[in-house]
Order: sequence, then structure tokens, then C-alpha cells
Amino acid sequence: MNIKGNKISILGAVRSGISSAKLAAAKGAIPFVSDMSDNLEIRENLSVLDELNIKYELGLHSEKVFDCDFIITSPGVPSNSEVIVKALSKGIKVISEIEFAYWFCEGNIIAISGTNGKTTTTSLCAHLLNSAGINCFSAGNIGIPFSEIVSTMTKADYVALEVSSFQLDFIDQFRPNYAIMLNITPDHLDRYENRFDLYIKSKMRITKNQSTGNTFIYNGDDENIPVGYVSDKTNLLAFSIEKGLSKGCYVDEDWIIYSDNGNEEEVCNVEDLSLKGEHNLMNAMSVISLAMNLGISKEVICEALKTFKGVEHRLEFVKEINGIKFINDSKATNVNSVWYALRSFNEPIYLILGGKDKGNYYNEIK
Ligand code: ADP
Repeated sequence: MNIKGNKISILGAVRSGISSAKLAAAKGAIPFVSDMSDNLEIRENLSVLDELNIKYELGLHSEKVFDCDFIITSPGVPSNSEVIVKALSKGIKVISEIEFAYWFCEGNIIAISGTNGKTTTTSLCAHLLNSAGINCFSAGNIGIPFSEIVSTMTKADYVALEVSSFQLDFIDQFRPNYAIMLNITPDHLDRYENRFDLYIKSKMRITKNQSTGNTFIYNGDDENIPVGYVSDKTNLLAFSIEKGLSKGCYVDEDWIIYSDNGNEEEVCNVEDLSLKGEHNLMNAMSVISLAMNLGISKEVICEALKTFKGVEHRLEFVKEINGIKFINDSKATNVNSVWYALRSFNEPIYLILGGKDKGNYYNEIK
């Protein structure tokens, strides 16, 4: 994609905004960064822009934003915010940061989405592929923006890309080689007019451009994932803890089986997985389906699943004091993740819970 000389307005001066500004400048475009906030965290990011002579404004989105060829928005900017609504009404193209980075990606993309388990699965995926000798980056919501690493990727490289619905709302051509959909449960409804159907639609955009040669891996037990959205040309693989499958992964008497059109192989035992809980079994099965499809050996897959250390703040054991185990699960920010956490223990639990209401229904926790 040639963007030389293009004027690009970038909304948001935090991680993904800064990285896309750097990428835009490296590709010969003229980025302009605009952020509604003006605080210390934002100001700390600005030295990079100063060094590259990239112009910016803080505390407002001025009319300058609309003087551009297109806009790159950050996940934190709601799609119904005034600046986006106005840009769209003026006919200005608005894209997300992953869409922008995608334009310059030579390598292979494994896009990982779902309401819960994205970071864990992205991290496990990169760990497993790297264990198999495949160079795999991890990027996206996990912390390092896609724009930050995309220029260093070669054709042989992979990226495990954690993708949120906010990024998917503004994709255009983004076409991942593999897309993984872990689960869809109500979350972030405040950003989707309190409508679950709109949130589902947004999530399923991950597969919108997939076609021949691409694969969609999904949770076959989750009725909220509408497989009808996937094109007929896209290869489908599922995973399930409830039933046998002819294409994908399922569990039979503690064995994880991979079935390739009915050719079944025992990959590893559930007991071998380093991460506990049914939810982590499902996360692991999504990655096993991918790895088997890539032709990685069962030995390498099992070893990687045994050695994976998990990610901090996700059901993380902290310490035992006076016989009470303390578990940090502060990344459980919606009903479904709390539900799985509570199912992961047989002991009596004291639950310390609080946070910001995102329009969820809390009856399930009761
Ligand atoms: P995300 O990146 O989607 O927020 P994380 O891997 O950071 O997911 O995990 C967030 C929370 O969800 C943690 O509390 C974790 O224990 C829980 N979790 C992880 N995987 C799943 C899953 N497949 N289903 C439900 N909850 C999960």
C-alpha cells in the first residue's frame, strides 16, 4: 500500500495511536495525532512524536482532524463519539490500527478474539509456535501494538494478534490467515447500544474477509457464535468439551483428540495442561487445533502446553496465609470470566468483587 504524502489523522495518543503515527511517518505519510485527554500518561508518550516531528493536539479534537485523507482510530475511542460520527458524515474513511498495520504485513496473522481468554490464548499461541521453531510475535491488545512490530515481520513469520471488538469495528481489508473465536458472552454492551446482537456482529467481523486458504477456529459449544457469518470458502475447525467432532478438537475420557475429517489422533492428556480450569482447557484446544493444522508435532504441542506459565492477574496464585489461598483474578472484568473462576475451585470462597458497570446482567453470579 502506498501512503506516501497522505495526510492521516490519528485519534488517541496512547499505545496504538503512537505506534500507528510512527508507522505512518516511516511510510512517508504525514500523521497528525489528536487526543481528547491531556494528562500525564498522554504527555509521557509525546517525546517520540517530538523526535519524529509529528504534530499533535491534546485536550480536544479540533477541525484539523478532518483535514486528512483518512483517520486511524484507537480502541478507546467509542464508535459513536462525536469526532467519528462527524468524520463519517463528511465521508472520511475511518480505520482501526490493526487495519492500518495489516496493509504492511508480509507475514501470517493468527487473529484471536472472544469475550474472554484472548490474552491467555494469544500468549499460549506464541509460546507454542516459538517452541516449534516458528518465529511468532504476540501483539495487539496484549500490549504491543501490531503497528509496532509489523515492519520487522518477514513472510515466514507469524503474529498471534489479540483483537478486540473495538478494533474490528473499523477494519476494511483485514484478512487473518487464522481467526480464533473463543467465546461470545455479553460484555461492553455500553459501547453497542446495550444490544448483544450488535456486539456479536462486531466480533464476527474478524472473519469478514476470510476466504480460500484461511481458517476459522471456533468454540463449537458456544451457541452465540454464528458460524453462518463465515464464508463457504473458509476452512472451519471447531473445539468442544461437550461433543465429538469430525473437524477439530474434542475431549474423550481426559484425552484431547484432534480429528481431521475423521482421522483421529490423541494429542495429549488434559492432566498435562499447566493451566487449570475448564476455560483454560478450551483456550488450549483452540491453539491445539491451530497447531495440528499447521503440522506441528504432538510432542512439541504437549511439551509447550506443559511448560506454559500463564499470564499474571488471570487466576494467579499469590500466597497462602493462615491456610487461606489468595488468588488474583483482577482481569475477570465480566460475568462470564467470574463464573469460570468460581467453577475452578472446590474450596469455600471469599469473593472480593467490584468495578464499573458495562451494562451486564449480574444474575448469573448470584
Ligand atoms: P481477555 O484478554 O479476553 O480479557 P484474559 O486471558 O486476560 O482474557 O482473561 C481474562 C479473565 O477471563 C481472567 O479472569 C481469566 O481467568 C478468564 N478467562 C480466561 N479464559 C477464559 C475463557 N475461555 N472463558 C471464560 N473466562 C476466561
